[in-house]
Amino acid sequence: MIMTKPEEINIFQYLEARFNLSEGDRLYYSNLLKGYKGEQLFVKLLSDQAETWTILNDVILEWNNATFQIDTLIIFRNKIYLFEIKNYEGDYYIENEIWYTISNKEIKNPLLQLTRCESLLRQLLQHYGFRIPIESYIIFINLEFTLFHATTNLPIILPTQLKRYLTQLKTAHQSTSSNHKLAKLIATLRKDKSPYTKIPTYTYEDVKKGITCSACSSFEIKIIKRQLICMHCNYHEHIDAAILRSTRQFKTLFPDKKITTKIIYDWCQIIDSRKTIRRVLANNFTQLGHAKSIYYVDSSEIK
Ligand SMILES: [Zn+2]
Repeated sequence: MIMTKPEEINIFQYLEARFNLSEGDRLYYSNLLKGYKGEQLFVKLLSDQAETWTILNDVILEWNNATFQIDTLIIFRNKIYLFEIKNYEGDYYIENEIWYTISNKEIKNPLLQLTRCESLLRQLLQHYGFRIPIESYIIFINLEFTLFHATTNLPIILPTQLKRYLTQLKTAHQSTSSNHKLAKLIATLRKDKSPYTKIPTYTYEDVKKGITCSACSSFEIKIIKRQLICMHCNYHEHIDAAILRSTRQFKTLFPDKKITTKIIYDWCQIIDSRKTIRRVLANNFTQLGHAKSIYYVDSSEIK
């Protein structure tokens, strides 16, 4: 089971190399990335069940004008598991139901988020006629995480408990079938985009053009024969692959702009032949328009 990288992370990754991100943006991106890595780890731990269980990741839903995001849902015939994955690192403690870092800085209580998600999901499912128990947990995935003063009745799984918990879960649901009707409903209702995204505003003029190294994001690239060679890390990439990859980056950063030979030529900077660019675009996209107004789209975009 491969988890698709959220578009938001791709955008930040490209902007990091091409745009002057503020300190706040960088902090936000680094937290985003950390959270995503935690989710990936959890997906990996469940990968041996991917064939038999219905596991949904990064599910964004809306109920009663409220949007909520669930990291992982496992849907069985008679029960749903809802997991929030936290990749926190370091020492934390709880006092009077308030969560703090070891340096006494109060943090957002992750249990409130869990309760909110569970409640909204329950209301949504009830609305569609599903009365099914939901069991929710926060999974602390990072081995470097410690939580002091946690009572045993909290719906949390600590790193030291995770292996045991998953073994129990797998044993308990060895032969439980999935609730296909419910899985289908959620697949229909889920949204692709999070409304919480904090992508900074940028224009085409604002971002640095050029092909970046696929391995280290450096702009210091030389073309020798049909290979792009990174001066920084010596990574080699075929020119066609590099143009296609850069075009994909352009499309992610500027979804509203048309892909034309002219703009990709400007975007790549270091490719001296428009013909090469035209060939790569024609081979990988569907051509629309005529003569001077030719542009390229993915075949999936044509209705
Ligand atoms: Zn490189």
